[in-house]
Amino acid sequence: MAYMSWAIAVERKQDRLALVSRVTLLRATNTFADAKGALDTIAATSDIPCSEAHIEHMRALTVNTRSIEEMGYFEDGLLKCTSWGVTAGAVTRSGIDYVTPDGIEVSIRMQPLVSGGKPMMALHSGNYNVLVAPSRLVDVLIDDGMSIALATGQGTIINTLNTPDIGLVRSLVAAPGKGMTDSDLFATARGDGLLAVATEPKSKIAASLRTEQMLLLPVGVFIAAFIVAVVIWLSRKRLSPLAELETAVRNREFIVHYQPIVELKTGICIGAEALVRWRRPDGSLVSPDLFIPLAEQSGLIEPITDQVIEAVILDLNSMLVGDRTLHIAINLCAADIKSGRILAVLEDRLANTGIRTEQIWLEATERGFMDIDAASVTLAKARERGHSVAIDDFGTGYSSLQYLQRLPLDALKIDKSFIDTIGRDTATSSVTSHIIDMSQSLGLFSVAEGVETEDQADYLKTHGVDFGQGWLFSKALPAADFIAYHRHTKEKYGAAPEVIQAAAG
Ligand code: C2E
Ligand code: CA
Ligand code: CA
Repeated sequence: MAYMSWAIAVERKQDRLALVSRVTLLRATNTFADAKGALDTIAATSDIPCSEAHIEHMRALTVNTRSIEEMGYFEDGLLKCTSWGVTAGAVTRSGIDYVTPDGIEVSIRMQPLVSGGKPMMALHSGNYNVLVAPSRLVDVLIDDGMSIALATGQGTIINTLNTPDIGLVRSLVAAPGKGMTDSDLFATARGDGLLAVATEPKSKIAASLRTEQMLLLPVGVFIAAFIVAVVIWLSRKRLSPLAELETAVRNREFIVHYQPIVELKTGICIGAEALVRWRRPDGSLVSPDLFIPLAEQSGLIEPITDQVIEAVILDLNSMLVGDRTLHIAINLCAADIKSGRILAVLEDRLANTGIRTEQIWLEATERGFMDIDAASVTLAKARERGHSVAIDDFGTGYSSLQYLQRLPLDALKIDKSFIDTIGRDTATSSVTSHIIDMSQSLGLFSVAEGVETEDQADYLKTHGVDFGQGWLFSKALPAADFIAYHRHTKEKYGAAPEVIQAAAG
């Protein structure tokens, strides 16, 4: 705004200077035209030179032509008579400084001998001349502090007002126009072989600058306030869910909670399922149900799974190395089961940790088995490396039986919806025992999900389900709490028996 007010003030001054120079030029050309008119009129008379009538005639023209002060008649280069009367003595014509486009010869400064007044400008044409007061040429109203100059097209200064910088005026003869130097603003006007220059010191702008600033600074304050408001609004505005999730992945906002998995017979904690949580910058936790679907759709699930694996290692490395019976189950997304990318990631992250591949179980849902051939390749490779593979949410899909026999699996996680029916007389109640039987006949370990009551646990135990996971035992816990939970149950129930150690690899 400070710059703008300066620029506007300069612009305004230059416009004013341009106007003054145009007026000056107009004034000068009118003066020359006036003088020429008088010279033409007198040249057309047939009076006997220097007769009373002739002198009378010249005097009348002088009086009636505003610009001219005196008129003279020459013969053989000598002044014979003027509008004042017949001259005595030999007065020669003054030297010529320049010639106007319409042929008038101009002497810029000459001393009128007859009247003996101030220096005059003489305009000669034929046998006559007229004297013009130089001040007439620049007789315009100008602002305080402005200066003007009138020069010929060749750079001869004809007259000035308020002593302008002559060096500047000379330089403008070669390059006219609007502009400014270190000290002055200027503008020019050109026409009829004349150049009018108007200048003003820059220091004069200060006053008008203050006026501009008074006007523009509030505008500047308003614009600044507006920009600040927009920035605040933008920063508060919520991003699209996908953009938010992208930012979360970039900022590694994912942490893992661990839900203990317990041997139903003994109550011993044999491991945990890693369940991802999105911890927002404000500290709030977002449930995976709210962002996993979008993450799977957008492909962001892959970097999230990587962050889960990294978190498991960071959180539980020494615990897993210290207790080889423990395992952590990691949920795989459909894309990773299809591509097998996850196996390379696991190999890379587990290297040099001391954690055995046998201690990492992989959970895959039916969604991952759409391409059953690719899935069986990945799962077979995973088992080759030592991982155990569990089918997650078993019973909720459509093609359970079809793929169950074709896929290389170790365990089956019975979905919570079946566990919920235990002890209730519903249509699906009987399905639960069939699912348990099925896993046993296929030689798979079974894990019951979402066990909430003792009755459910008792039922599952008597039906031979190996492991349970649910709020009855524990909710998903932050790493430190899970480590404490595990230590506590170990003291209470002892170490995992051989069979579990075998199951864990
Ligand atoms: P899931 O794999 O079936 O995980 C079990 C879910 O059931 C967890 O919810 C767990 O907190 C909840 N749960 C466990 N016991 C009980 C219980 O007794 N009662 C009730 N009402 N709920 C219980 P969570 O942690 O909200 O996870 C939801 C789903 O998000 C998971 O279902 C899984 O499909 C997905 N998920 C979680 N973490 C990951 C991950 O790291 N990767 C992928 N791809 N998916 C994940
Ligand atoms: Ca799971
Ligand atoms: Ca599940």
